Formats: sequence, C-alpha cells, structure tokens
Amino acid sequence: MQVRKRIQVSGIVQGVGFRPYVYRLAMDRNLGGNIGNTPAGVTIEIQGRPDLVEDFISRLPEEAPALAQITQVNVREMPCEPERRFEILSSSTGEPASALVSPDVAVCEDCLRELFDPRDRRHLYPFINCTNCGPRFTIVRDIPYDRPRTSMSAFAMCGKCRAEYEDPRNRRFHAQPNACWQCGPQLELWDAQGRPVEALDPLDPINMIEAAVKRLQSGEILAVKGLGGFHLAVDAGNEAAVKRLRLRKRRMEKPFAIMVRDLESAGRFCEIDAEARRLLSGRQRPIVLLQKRKDAAIAETVAPNQRDLGLFLPYTPLHHLLFPAGEFAALVMTSGNLSEEPIAIDNREAVDRLGGIADFFLVHDRDILLRCDDSVVRSSGGRVRQIRRSRGYVPAPVRWREELPRILAVGGELKNTICLTRHNLAFLSQHIGDLENMESIEFFGEAVAYLSRILEIEPEIVAHDLHPDYFSTKWALSRKGVRLVGVQHHHAHIASCMAENGVEGRVIGLALDGTGYGTDGQVWGGEALLAGYESFERAAHFAYAMLPGGAAAIREPWRMALSYLAQTFGGDCLALDIPFVQKLERGKAETILRMMAQRVNSPLTSSCGRLFDAVAALIGIRQEATYEAQAAIELEMAARSSSETAGYPLAICRQDEHWVIDASPLFGAIVEDLRRKVCAEIISRRFHNGLVETLVRLACLLREESSLNQICLSGGTFNNSLVFENLTRDLISHGFAVFTHSQVPSGDGGLSLGQALVAAHSAHN
Ligand SMILES: [Zn+2]
Ligand SMILES: [Zn+2]
Ligand SMILES: [Zn+2]
Repeated sequence: MQVRKRIQVSGIVQGVGFRPYVYRLAMDRNLGGNIGNTPAGVTIEIQGRPDLVEDFISRLPEEAPALAQITQVNVREMPCEPERRFEILSSSTGEPASALVSPDVAVCEDCLRELFDPRDRRHLYPFINCTNCGPRFTIVRDIPYDRPRTSMSAFAMCGKCRAEYEDPRNRRFHAQPNACWQCGPQLELWDAQGRPVEALDPLDPINMIEAAVKRLQSGEILAVKGLGGFHLAVDAGNEAAVKRLRLRKRRMEKPFAIMVRDLESAGRFCEIDAEARRLLSGRQRPIVLLQKRKDAAIAETVAPNQRDLGLFLPYTPLHHLLFPAGEFAALVMTSGNLSEEPIAIDNREAVDRLGGIADFFLVHDRDILLRCDDSVVRSSGGRVRQIRRSRGYVPAPVRWREELPRILAVGGELKNTICLTRHNLAFLSQHIGDLENMESIEFFGEAVAYLSRILEIEPEIVAHDLHPDYFSTKWALSRKGVRLVGVQHHHAHIASCMAENGVEGRVIGLALDGTGYGTDGQVWGGEALLAGYESFERAAHFAYAMLPGGAAAIREPWRMALSYLAQTFGGDCLALDIPFVQKLERGKAETILRMMAQRVNSPLTSSCGRLFDAVAALIGIRQEATYEAQAAIELEMAARSSSETAGYPLAICRQDEHWVIDASPLFGAIVEDLRRKVCAEIISRRFHNGLVETLVRLACLLREESSLNQICLSGGTFNNSLVFENLTRDLISHGFAVFTHSQVPSGDGGLSLGQALVAAHSAHN
C-alpha cells in the first residue's frame, strides 16, 4: 500500500540547502515524488509506504539545515501516481509569494578549509561559497531565489561548477552564487581614478591581494568591495593613516570598527567572554561592541574617548585572504561613504564618491544589488542588543501571533529603517541612515521599492511619524490610494518593544531618547506612557526645558547646561563659582540667556538625551558633540569608572493630568558637588544612580495608579548600558514584568516596527 502527500513549506527555505536536504531525506527512506521552489516556498510531493511518509513529514522540520527557517507546513492527501524516483523540479513562478530570502551569511568552515587547501580547485579563490554560506539578500534581483534572478546571472558556470550545482548530494547543489577561478567573479586592483593598476596580471589575483596588502602596510587607504557595500580600510595600528582617513571621510571622532583576523587576536584588543565569542563568530558576523583592553595596540584615533571598541571578524573569503597576506594586527573597516551618506556599492559609484578618500580600490565584478551596512550589536543583561540591525539579520522577519494587514511603515528621520508586513510577519529593512541628504533619501526609495518587490507586498496602509518636517512623513503623505496612519514617536517605540516580545494588553512604557515630535507640538524625549497598540496616554514626562537655538543645542551640549542652570538658578546663574560658568564665553552666554528669556528660537523639550548632554557639559566632559549621543556616551564612560552608590535627587511632581520629573534638585546638587571639587566620575555616577532611582519610583507610582505591572523600555537612551542594566535589575526586583529589545534596535532603527503594529491595530476601528 502506498500514500502520496503534498507538503507546502513556507519560510526561509530557498538558497539554504533545503532541497538537497529533502532529497536525501526522501532517498534514505526510498520514497518517490518531487520538490520544487515556488514563490510560496517549496512544495514537496512524497509517495511511498505510509509509515515512511509519516516519518519523512515528522523529521522534515526537525533536521532542516541550519540556515532554514520554517514558518509554516501544510500537508494534504493526493492520489497516488505511477511510482518514480524522487526528483528536484526547476523553479516555477506566478503564485503569490511567501518564500523568504535568506540574509547574507559569513563564509562557512567547509569553504574556508577549501580556500586554504592547495589541492582544492578553489584554492585562494576570493568568491568561494556553498549552500551554507555566501551572499543572498544583497545579490537577489527578484524571487524565487534562483541564479537567473541574482547578480550571478552574468556568469555562466563552467562544467565542473555545473556538475556540483546539479548533484543533489553535493554541498553546492543549487548554490546560486556557485563559482570558481574559471567561471566566476574576479578581482581587480584600481588606482584612485578607477584605472586598473597596470603592472598587475589580471589573471593573477593573489599577486593583486599582495599588492593591495603592501599598500595598506605603507599606510594607504584601501576601498574594498564586500558583501553589502564598500569598506574603507587602513592599518589600525598606523596613527597617521587613521588620521588621514578621518580627515578625508570628514568623520572627526565617531569611533571606527576594527576587523581582526580571528578570535584569538580579538582577545588582544577587547575583553572577550563566551557570549562575545559566540556573537563574533556567528554566521551574521556583526560588529560587536566590547570593552577595550587597556593595552590594546591600536591607534588612539580609532576610537577616541571610548570605553568600548567595535570589533568584528572576517566574513567574506576576500577578508580572510587579506589578513594572512598582511600580518596586520587589525584593520579599520568602516563603511565606504562620506560622513553620514549611504554606503557605496557599485564600482563606478565607489570611484566617484570615494575617489577623494581612498588611495586605491580592490573591486570585483559581482554586483551588489542592495546596500547593506554591517550590523552593530552588544551583549547586555544576557541578551544580544541590536544597535544597528543590517547585514546578516535582514530580511529575517519578526513574527507576530496573527495575520497582519499589508502595511508599509516608513520609520523616523534618524537611523531610519522601514518595515513591511505580510501574513503574520514583519520585515524590517536594513539600516538606511539619517534622511538628511539626497543620497540617503534615494536609498530610502530604493529600499522601499526593493523590499516591496522581493516580498511581494503592495501596502494598503502606510504608517508614519507625526513630525511634519520629516522626509519620511512627507513621503508617506504623498502616497495615493492607501490609508495613512500617523503614529506618535514614543508610542511607536513602546509598541515596537511590545511587538518583538509578543506583549498583549496595556503596559507602562518608558520611552527615553533624544527627540520625538509630541502631540502638543513640543519636542518629547523623556516619556512614561500607559500604552497598548491601539492608543496611549502620556502619564509622566521630564519637565520641559528650553532648547536654545533648536538643533544647535543638540550639537552644542553647553547650551543645554546653561538652559538647565538658568531654569534652576534664574538669571544669576552666570554668577555661579563653578568651572563651567567661568569657562563660558561671556558674550555668547548672555545672548543665549536673552534668547531664552524672550523665548526666541527656544523650543521646549522633555528630552532625556538633552539632560545627559547638559550634565556632560556642566561637569566638563563635552561642550560640543561631533556625532549623535557623543556627550552621553562619554558621560556613561566616566560613570563606569566610579563605584559610587549614592544618587542625586530628582523630584516627581503632579502637574495637571500627569506627573513631571523635575531635574532642578539634580542641578542644585551637581553645582554643590562642583563647588566641592568632586570629580566628574563620581558626579556622573551619582547622576546615573539618581536617574535610575527616580525612574523606579515613577514606575511604582504609575503601577499603583494603573494596576499595570508590565513595563516596556525603549528609546535610544537604553543604548546606555549602565542605565539599561541597573534599571532593568531594579524594576525586576520591584516585581515588574520587564520587557526590553533584543531583535530590533531600542533606538530609532526600531521605530518602523512599532509604527506598523500601531497601524495594524488602528485598522480595526
Ligand atoms: Zn560554504
Ligand atoms: Zn566554475
Ligand atoms: Zn526615538
């Protein structure tokens, strides 16, 4: 007796070795039938003895390849057919899609072994890959994922590669980017004008890598094409070279990440524990923020004034070839762009945009179809925290418990990402960046178009921020034929945290960040909400302070310090006998005070980020910021070198409908300590401690009033791990159910997910 069943499998099942896996599973059980990629995932028909068919179905999800992510399995009965052996069908198109493209994957151990094996036919081939590794998301033009719909379509496989590609028992069976020296992509070394370096034989790429390495060793800047875009590389031990890169890239102080050869050398730069090891060597290969060792042998300018260092390991075969040839301890590897612009991906584009930065280019002819920066993570409180979620993680979806409408959420302004939903899945885009220049705005358009195409989502709802001047808001408002849903910034933060944790009902939401447009038109940023997906109320916030000069006050933290001093001490604040006041430029300070007194260009803010700025400036840590959150990062670093346990007082007062956190007592106490010449480290620690105590007190107050015990923490301030870890610990010890981010960023990179979920719930009204 025989049975035949049709099994539909959805999820990430294409380009991850799923079909050969199923083939083997069927052959081992002597079953007939077939498997094919469809836009809906894969469809399997399986025929044979009933017990063997049952065994096949039960093992199917259990033993699936590591990269596969099955979201759904549907089985139905079929009439039996004349018996045939199991076969793999060629791709079909035309059905509605639910197949998911895999993120890009770091080169696997098997490929690495071959890469360095002199007997292997791919010995030292910089584009070696297999079904378990290599480019995916960044080379896909369309779905289903098959070679003609990738940027590998330009390369015809040689006989040997094709034989591997067609052999179901081979590790390269249907590995779409499969290639070798004979048939695949090749390297070229170009000068700064994009002309091939003549003395080199184009058929001798090893010679080329050696030439590139020599130049790196002599301190030159190399633009090297990677998986999701170009990197700018220099020897991290060469102070002059790193300085030159900073100057040319116009990135003065924001830290650079470094790539090191392996885990062993990582340990020479940073403190590495088991979790760090796991993150560094995982297949996503993100940049991991780790505490820098005091004796780390890198140029001071790589990460000035930083306690942590962004570290990552090689993830393309080309990276692996650069290190042994170069004997570098570490390479600075930073996105190939001018400060704040998107990363360059095309060879000619790279020469145009990076020609003034790089001394030479190591390029290849496999096109990158979509920009995708390196991801940045850290481990905190035992879980991975996304700082920038991009290569290696995108487009893996966040799962929701029920079917969602088709939504496009366009995110905020800074660290923009977008989110598209389909069925019960929410897909966040890669990091798009700050939508403040033409290049980023174009990238935003590319990302929307590309993701909508490969996910086959035509949105019925477009969700956006409330800020009328954000590019993303204006873009959303210009859409026709869709329902628009505006979502308040901090509501989106909290909904994002709820969504990735599957939280239902209502929560106390602490949304702490720099800037978000409030429903009263003011700049919010230190908010306690009582919120569900469908609505929120503002239960508490930091007392409004003036932002003298608007955006200028964000770039110049000393303005915020002066603003808080004026608020606390009135017009006499310039008479305070503390170093901050003594060092102020009198004329400038008086202008600022006048501006605030007359309410000229001094919007109100409840921003938590600005409070950090003010304290950092007041105690002499940072007067002007050259990148976002710089003052807060340096303040946290100072606090960490103190073991002080006391905290400054902040008042919680009732004002109209809600609670207000008044920072005046805090500034009174800091000024007192400054007079007593207490050091910046202790003051900073007392500030952090006081803030955490106050937030816990506030949470308890709100719990009493609302009877809510679930609390969600979101917003960029929680990238401060001192606040994050201590607050989480104390809230848990007070009996709260605390939810935090892990899958998506706590900062504005996670906003689009929250916007989508709020919009999904507004759809029912
Ligand atoms: Zn591999
Ligand atoms: Zn070949
Ligand atoms: Zn925010």
